Amino acid sequence: MEKMDVSSLIGRLLCQLGFHSFRVIDATFGFGDAGGVEKVECRRCGVIMSRKA
Ligand SMILES: [Zn+2]
Repeated sequence: MEKMDVSSLIGRLLCQLGFHSFRVIDATFGFGDAGGVEKVECRRCGVIMSRKA
C-alpha cells in the first residue's frame, strides 16, 4: 500500500486546485516585443506548462 503523509495529501489537493509547485526547467529569452517564455514543471504532479517569463 502506498504510504500517505499529510504533506503529500495537501500537495495533491493544491495541484487539483491549480496551485502547482513549479520549478523552471527551460527558459527562452525573447527580444523586443516577443518576450521570453519559461517552461515550468510541477515538482509534485509533474505537469509541464509554458508561461511568459
Ligand atoms: Zn502540480
